[in-house]
Amino acid sequence: VDPPPTMLHAFRASARHVPDRTALVYFDGRLTYAEADALSDGIANHLLAHGFRPGDRTAIVLQNTPQFVLALLATWKAGGIAVPVSPMYKSRELGHVLRDAQATALVCHERGWSAYIRETVADSAVHIALTTSELDLQSRDDHRVLPTDARSHPDDATDLLAAARASAGTPVPEPALGPDDAALITYTSGTTGVPKGARNTHGNMAYNAQRQCRILQLPDGAVIFALAPLFHISGMVSQLAAALTGGSTLAMAYRFEAGVVLDAIREHRPAYMVGPSTAYIALMARPDTSADDFASFRWLSSGGAPLPPAVVEEFRRRYGHYVRNGYGLTECTGACASVPPGKEAPVDPVSGTLAVGVPGPDTVIRIVDETGGDVPFGEHGEIAVRGPMVVPGYWRRPEESAATLPDGELRTGDIGFMDETGWLYVVDRKKDMISASGFKVWPREVEDVLYTHPAVREAAVVGVPHPYRGETVKAYVSLKPGASVDSGELVAYCKDRLAAYKYPREVELLAELPKNTSGKILRRELRGLPGQRRG
Ligand code: ATP
Repeated sequence: VDPPPTMLHAFRASARHVPDRTALVYFDGRLTYAEADALSDGIANHLLAHGFRPGDRTAIVLQNTPQFVLALLATWKAGGIAVPVSPMYKSRELGHVLRDAQATALVCHERGWSAYIRETVADSAVHIALTTSELDLQSRDDHRVLPTDARSHPDDATDLLAAARASAGTPVPEPALGPDDAALITYTSGTTGVPKGARNTHGNMAYNAQRQCRILQLPDGAVIFALAPLFHISGMVSQLAAALTGGSTLAMAYRFEAGVVLDAIREHRPAYMVGPSTAYIALMARPDTSADDFASFRWLSSGGAPLPPAVVEEFRRRYGHYVRNGYGLTECTGACASVPPGKEAPVDPVSGTLAVGVPGPDTVIRIVDETGGDVPFGEHGEIAVRGPMVVPGYWRRPEESAATLPDGELRTGDIGFMDETGWLYVVDRKKDMISASGFKVWPREVEDVLYTHPAVREAAVVGVPHPYRGETVKAYVSLKPGASVDSGELVAYCKDRLAAYKYPREVELLAELPKNTSGKILRRELRGLPGQRRG
């Protein structure tokens, strides 16, 4: 079966087939597919009545809440493009995204609006502002009885749900959207320069959502838990778009906090979730997490960040569940390789790296050298991806688009290799390679070893300047609750298991490792710690 032409078609098909099924659950608040359809009609009518035109951009600056989904659907219904933005962004980062995307509408939390977003917007093309609160849809009964003017909104922004309810019953004219139109503009975090917006089309998104549903084969009416943030591509596509396409229920709990997530899992009994490995590590660190908590799950996925094999093994030993690796990036509209049903990812015997998966049926992944030529099986090269989920380009950046997507093939900036049987391995990011006395060291290999130490909770490895070696390897480590080990012991542990040029000369213990807003450990911040800055 071909994927639906747009995500709006996918949602409408579910709204027609299962109108009374719960589409969105948020704590004790619920919205059915029919209710989500009607409320998003109302918001779309509001946008159109205030000058929003087809192709316009809505910045959605929200955590995992039903309002996020309503704003997204409304933007598509009004023929527009959604720009998901992390609510943890500071004014400078948000300002860049708003100006670059030339967003004309913005949806945010009322707290953000009163704190800094209103000022940031003043300098942009935004002329429609909608604000909301996480409390608005927390309880079904509450949101029905609460008068919409019960909270104070600044008079230059409109209450999202009040706007929604004002014309919820009024049909919205059908937008002229097709598979090649942008559904999203998603901004990369910009570790290599100014953040650029990937133009994820409806075709990209509908394809990957449908593929995800096929892989998962969830039972009718299953619950998907939104572990990853919806403003990140993995959360947006593998959770939200898959739920809307499959007519599943999407359960949300604002932002990742291990205790809150456990409560939500216990209450909603989900069948599937996906998040970065750090989310699984955080769940394991809680003393009350038990095998029962995962009994309803058919599938647990890790994606968007490296998954140390030691984490997979520990999770399985404790709770009897296998966490599946998956590889993807913003420019792939989610995943482009995953571990197929019934299989387990092998571990490369030489490097100890866990395979990320195999490419999907319509996806071609090559390992290429500098000139774009294929490298032999088992040898390192850049991972290049071609397939229906690969974006056609960046938003208004023809030069970067041509450089990153020559002839439509995505150069990922990741170094990897493929074995003879088609398993893909991600070695590391090209730009994170450490050159120690001229030898290449891939931080991940060192991190994977550190993760096998029983006291280690999280590890991140970077190169630090060295007078005659160029760089040396340094590790930052946080420990499991109650564990204690000194850094010298960790250095010795690595020395026993890694070649002389690879083991960290120094291990520094930190209470927490720095992470980005989607939970990924940020090596670049560690490189920037006092005394470590490179050039
Ligand atoms: P930027 O590229 O600007 O730093 P980012 O980290 O937010 O931004 P994403 O698109 O979110 O970019 O992440 C994609 C990257 O995450 C991949 O290029 C790869 O380096 C890494 N990654 C994703 N999945 C895996 C995986 N299973 N194993 C190892 N690395 C992974």
